[in-house]
Amino acid sequence: MRLILLGPPGAGKGTQAKMLKEKFKIPQISTGDILRQAVKDNTELGARAKIVMDAGQLVPDDVVIGLIKERIRQADCKAGFILDGFPRNIAQAEKLSETLIEMSLKIDKVIDLEVNAEEVVNRLTGRSTCPECGAMFHHISRPPKVSGVCDGCGGKLEQRLDDNRETIHERLKVYMESTAPLKEFYKKQGNLKMVEAKGSVEDIFSNVCKMIDV
Ligand code: AMP
Repeated sequence: MRLILLGPPGAGKGTQAKMLKEKFKIPQISTGDILRQAVKDNTELGARAKIVMDAGQLVPDDVVIGLIKERIRQADCKAGFILDGFPRNIAQAEKLSETLIEMSLKIDKVIDLEVNAEEVVNRLTGRSTCPECGAMFHHISRPPKVSGVCDGCGGKLEQRLDDNRETIHERLKVYMESTAPLKEFYKKQGNLKMVEAKGSVEDIFSNVCKMIDV
C-alpha cells in the first residue's frame, strides 16, 4: 500500500500517518521530520534547511526529491509507505511519478485532508510535539495529562519554531500557491480521495480508512 497524505499545515497529516503506519505496518515518510532531524543533528543539510523552514518556505526541490528517492528504496518500504508532506508542488509530484515508474510501482491512494485556514491557525498555535516519540498534543483539544510532558514517553514537549502566527500565514500562502494544485494533479490521475479533517482524530481516521478500502 503506497499512500500520499495531502492537506494544509495542521490538517493532521502527521497524526493520521502515524495511525496508518500502525494499521498497515508500513513506514511513515515525513520530509518535515527528516529535515527537522537534520537540523537537530547539525548537518550541512540541516543548517541550510533551517533558514528556509523557519521562514515557512519550501526547501529546494532537488534536496527533498533526493531524500525521498533514497528513502523509498530502503528495505522497509517494500510493502509500501505513507508520504506525509511530500510532494509539496507539481515538480516534486512529477519527479515522484518518474521515480515510481522506474521502480515499477504506483501510488494507490492520495488522501486530501480538508480543513479551513481559521482552523489551521487555531490548531497550530496550540500545538506541541514530543521530540522523543513524535506524539502531538493541543493545549485545548488534546492536552497532555501533565502540562509540558508527553503522555506516552515522558518526553519534554516542544512547540515547533514555525508554529507561530506569522510563519503559519506564510506556510498557508505557500500551501495555496504550490501544494493545493496537487489536488487537480492527482484528481486527473484518478486516485484522489477527499476527507473532511473535522471531528475527533478517530473519526477522521475511520473516514481515511474507508477511502483507502474503496
Ligand atoms: P511539515 O513538517 O511537513 O509541516 O514541514 C515543515 C517544513 O519543512 C516546511 O514548511 C518546509 O520548509 C519543509 N518541507 C517539508 N517537506 C517539504 C517538501 N516536500 N518540500 C519542500 N520543503 C519541505
